[in-house]
Amino acid sequence: MQQEAKRLLQTGKTIAFVPTMGYFHEGHLALMREGRKHGDALIISIFVNPTQFGPGEDFQGYPRDVNRDMSLAESVGVDVIFAPEAKAMYDKAYQTHIDLEMLPRYLCGPSRPGHFRGVATVVTKLFNIVKPHVAIFGKKDYQQLLIIQRMVRDLRLDIKIVGVPIVREADGLAMSSRNNYLSENERRSALSLFQSLQQAQETVAQGIRNARELIRGASELIRSYPYTKIDYVTVCDPETLEDVDRVDGPTLMALAVWVGKTRLIDNTILKPSNYSGSKFQGSRFKVRER
Ligand code: AMP
Repeated sequence: MQQEAKRLLQTGKTIAFVPTMGYFHEGHLALMREGRKHGDALIISIFVNPTQFGPGEDFQGYPRDVNRDMSLAESVGVDVIFAPEAKAMYDKAYQTHIDLEMLPRYLCGPSRPGHFRGVATVVTKLFNIVKPHVAIFGKKDYQQLLIIQRMVRDLRLDIKIVGVPIVREADGLAMSSRNNYLSENERRSALSLFQSLQQAQETVAQGIRNARELIRGASELIRSYPYTKIDYVTVCDPETLEDVDRVDGPTLMALAVWVGKTRLIDNTILKPSNYSGSKFQGSRFKVRER
């Protein structure tokens, strides 16, 4: 891959890069289509990175289907797929990691210790191997995007980071490879994540700005569905991820919910002004067309 990247650079090509863990859905394909706009060569990686999974998490069971992924990638014009084996990325004596000080302390950090260290480290390694000018990440993993942006700035990596809006199923569920784990009944309960965010948007539009009230409303809605267990519901600063008391400007509402044995995440930016409930479905959320 490094030789191929060097060859592309020598011919003056701009490299756009989309790192993934595979098992593609429309969210991944949206990132690739965005990547296509930013580079002469579009490289993606498929790597289920062991170091970002904690003990007892779903590393072993994470869905994999490289053949299907390859044909989907081809259909959106991917030039190179990099799918290394774990032992090619981490040898036995491996000991170097990237740790950020503050951003991993919030949201998913406490319930997934070491996760963002694993993410920041593997993304840095992938950047060094693929040598992209531009890299594309989804806003579905908002905290991850923020951490990558911060890391790129802190380390002066010469890579432009592009964020892509969340791609949703027709009913609003954020697409995720992990949705594949859900039973039919759990799938219905999984909709509570999107619905609680939507409810919060509407509440803010009605002039209620109190973060606690918004969190309470979202939590009640989620708990009213069977199989759900809240990990966190947060209303916070979209740059620092610190909790806020009020929604006075664009504010991140983020949540993680266990639905059965599947942990799902979702988020939205709450905006106190220029919001109309009727425009919400069509403009604030990108819903997959069927
Ligand atoms: P993953 O394979 O789940 O690690 O995701 C690879 C990339 O796709 C990450 O940048 C994710 O944020 C992004 N992604 C995953 N699901 C979605 C989605 N529903 N909408 C937009 N981006 C997504």
